[in-house]
This record gives sequence, structure tokens and C-alpha cells, in this order.
Amino acid sequence: MYYIGIDLGGTSIKAGLVTKEGDIISKVSASTPVKEGFEGILKRINELVEEIVTTTKVNKENIKAIGVGVPGVCNEEGFIYFATNLFWTNVPLGKRLEELTGIKVAVENDATVAAVAEYTKGVTAQTKNSIFLTLGTGLGGGIIINHQVYSGSHGIGTEIGHVVVGENFYDCTCGNNGCLETFVSATALVKYCKKLLVDHKDSTIFKKVNGDLEKINAKIIFDCAREKDIVALQVIQRMVHYLAIGIGNLINIFDPEVIALGGGVAAAGDVFLEQLQEEIKKYIYVKSMNVTKIAIAQLENDAGIVGSAMYTKLKF
Ligand SMILES: [Zn+2]
Repeated sequence: MYYIGIDLGGTSIKAGLVTKEGDIISKVSASTPVKEGFEGILKRINELVEEIVTTTKVNKENIKAIGVGVPGVCNEEGFIYFATNLFWTNVPLGKRLEELTGIKVAVENDATVAAVAEYTKGVTAQTKNSIFLTLGTGLGGGIIINHQVYSGSHGIGTEIGHVVVGENFYDCTCGNNGCLETFVSATALVKYCKKLLVDHKDSTIFKKVNGDLEKINAKIIFDCAREKDIVALQVIQRMVHYLAIGIGNLINIFDPEVIALGGGVAAAGDVFLEQLQEEIKKYIYVKSMNVTKIAIAQLENDAGIVGSAMYTKLKF
């Protein structure tokens, strides 16, 4: 029996045929025709499913389910309330894709399926309770409780990026001020870095980008931190402070075995992981029980395909 996992992003759609153990047998991808709207994207997903069936010669009856990881908020029936990057509001993706393919479909948020990928083959494998945080343009979160995905009563839970942890100098895209993602995402690091550079013309960051502040990204900040640039270090210290508050809160609520960090920012874990682990201790209520492991996620590129495929296994 096989599964199809679909990683639906704002720029590309990746699809793969996956075994019940979570191994990818075949992968295909295409660009996301965002301008063609819901119908255009739906059609493209169906074409990818057909391409997998044709190239692998797998019998459709042997495909147990299709899982789709979406950059948005959806309910259990695969109805998507909104997916900002795709310009979708209120679309019945699960139902329509099921009609088109004749295969059972499950839809979940992309951070949640990445959590399932880690749970299947990564750093949270064989744990009962775990949390996955993806630190990229924003901050997404997925929670697994008692070996099951937890997404709340209406599918709108686990928006960890929008938990308020302080006061910030700019508002979040959601309209609030102080959301965790506005302190710790790659976007947040760049914004704070630019603010600090106003008073630090001697920073090596200026040299790295030839004076063009628009070229600053999280990778450059981490590279400069490794060279002990004072601005870069300050940016990371602030990120660590707020990430520790956020993670401390999660530990106090959920008491997970592992919290996995994924995404572009986590890839620079060597710069901040130790500092983060130390800082988290301040916020753990039961000081003698500092047992939650903080680990960098392992399944970066294929997490969307593996996770969405394996999510269907947990669901059906
Ligand atoms: Zn927010």
C-alpha cells in the first residue's frame, strides 16, 4: 500500500509516492499557477497525481490516500479557510481533489505535516508528545500529542507564531503587536538588524552587502555572528530571548519530550542552540524537570511530501 504526499507552496507544488514506512519512491514537481486561482491549482495538483501514477505504474487501488500540506488554515474536512500566499479564502480543497482523483484526501497545515515528518523519520520519532516549530519567513507550529496530531477543536489551533510574548517596534501581519514570529522569524531578524544598523555604521554587515541593506538576510546575519559582529550578535541574542520565552511557555503547557526546530533559521542552530537551551531554563516552571530536548529538525527538503503522506496514515 502506498500514499501520495503533496507539498503545496506559493511558488511550487511537490508531490511524491511514499511507502507506509515514509520512504519516497518517486518525486515530481511543478510551479504553482497562483494566477489561475483555485481551479488552476487544483488542476495542476491532479496532473501531478496522474504523472506519479503513470511514471511509477502503481495501481491506483494501491494508493490508500493523498495528503496535502497547505500554507494556510483548514478544518478536518479539508476545507481551507484561508491560505494567504495562494490568495485562497474558503475553498473545499479536500472534497474537490477527492472527486477528481477518486482517492481519499486529507489536508493539513504545512507546519503540522512537517511535524508528522519529523515524527515519522526525524528527531521526534518514537516520542509520545512533541512540538515542531518552523522558523522561516514566519513561524509555524505543529503539535503531536499521544502519537496524534493536535489541531484544536476547529482546526485553528497551534498558531504558535501568533502567541504574544512581548511588545515589538512593529506590528505583526495579523494586526496584533508582539507575536512570537515578529521576534524570531527570518523576517524579524532582518527587520531588527536594519534598525540596529542605523547606529552601527562600523558593523561588518554593511561590508557583506556592499552597503545595500535590502540584501540583508538571515544567513548573512548568522555568518556575521560567527565572526562576532556586535550587531549580528545582538540580533541573535534578542531572537534567543523571545524564542526561549515561547518555548518555555510551550514546555509549561505541554511537557513534550522533544521540541524540534526547522526552517532556514534553525539551519544555523550551531550559532544559537546552546544559548537557547540555557535561556529556556529561566522560563520552565518545574526547574528540577528540565528534560525537554531541543533539537534541530532533520527532514528539511522532503518534510512536506513525507509529512503529508504520513499524516493520512494517522488520520484514516
Ligand atoms: Zn501575529
